Amino acid sequence: MQVTILGSGSPMVTADRAGPSTLVRIGRTDLLFDCGRAVLMRGVAVGMTARELAAVFVTHMHSDHTTDYNDVITTRWITNTEPRPLTAIGPVGFKKFTDATLAMLENDIHYRMAHHPDLPHRPEVNVTEVSEGLAWEAEGIRVVAAPTDHSPVHPTVGFRVEAEGKVVVIAGDTVPCPGLTSLCKGAHVYVQTVIRRQMIEKVPIQRFRDVMDYHSDIAQAAQTARDAGVRTLVLNHPVPAPLPGTEPQWIAEAKAHFDGEVLLATDLLKVEA
Ligand SMILES: [Zn+2]
Ligand SMILES: [Zn+2]
Repeated sequence: MQVTILGSGSPMVTADRAGPSTLVRIGRTDLLFDCGRAVLMRGVAVGMTARELAAVFVTHMHSDHTTDYNDVITTRWITNTEPRPLTAIGPVGFKKFTDATLAMLENDIHYRMAHHPDLPHRPEVNVTEVSEGLAWEAEGIRVVAAPTDHSPVHPTVGFRVEAEGKVVVIAGDTVPCPGLTSLCKGAHVYVQTVIRRQMIEKVPIQRFRDVMDYHSDIAQAAQTARDAGVRTLVLNHPVPAPLPGTEPQWIAEAKAHFDGEVLLATDLLKVEA
C-alpha cells in the first residue's frame, strides 16, 4: 500500500502546494481522499485519473478539501465511454453537497450532451454517507470511518485504510478526540493536518488565529502518533506554509514527543505503508 500526498496545501494559496488531497494506492486500486485545488493535475503526475478511481472519500465539506470535487465528477464523466458512476463517501450532508455540485454543473452537462452524440448519459455519483464503521470494502481492502472533532465544522470524519496487512490513516482536519484515537491504533502511516502554534500566535490577525482552535498542532499530532503506536507520522496541510529552510524545525517539534518516523509533506511525497 502506497500513500501519495497529491496536495499538501491549505486554504492559503501558495505556488508549490496544491489543495488537500491524498492518494492511497493498493495494487491497481486507487482511492482518493479529499479533492483540493488542482487534485487532478497532481494525480496525473502519478498516473491517477478520475476515469479509473475506485472511490473518492471526503473528510468534510470545507472548501479547501472539496473545491475540485466538481472536476473529478466532470472529468470522470467525459473520459469514460460508458456510464461509470463515481463512488463517493463522505459525512452526513455529503449527498446534499453532491446534488448541489451536480446542479452547479448543469450548464456544462447540457452543453456537452448536446454537442456529443455519443454522450447520452449524465454524470452519476453513488454517494454513501458515513459516521462511524465500515465505509467501503472491496478486494481485501477495508476503509473504516470515525467521527473527528473540527468544531464548529460538523460533521467531519477520518478514514482508516486496511489492506495487505498494513494500515493507513487519513485524519483530515481535527483536534485529538476518541474517534481519531480509534482510527490511529497501530497505523503504519498517519497523515494529519497540522498547525505550528508558535508561529500563528504571533500573527495579529484574528481570522488567521482562529485556525488554532480546530486543528491539531504539531505536538498534539505527535502525541496522538505516540499513544497509538504509529510507525510514520506525516505532517500535512501545514499552517502556516513552512518557509524554506524551516522544515527541520517542524520535524524536531514532532520528534520531541514521538520516536517514530516524521515526515513534513510536500506535493507528491510518497510513503510506503
Ligand atoms: Zn483544511
Ligand atoms: Zn477544515
